Amino acid sequence: MKCTICKKKIEETFLEKIKGTYVKGKAVCNECQKTQTDKIKEL
Ligand SMILES: [Zn+2]
Repeated sequence: MKCTICKKKIEETFLEKIKGTYVKGKAVCNECQKTQTDKIKEL
């Protein structure tokens, strides 16, 4: 799983949950979730 915004790999837990979130079905890493709020709004 890669972050939609920064394209970095997002780690996944054993339950296939990502260390991040989904915005409109797109994966966003924790870092972008905090710092890229403008880009997240445009997704
Ligand atoms: Zn990211």
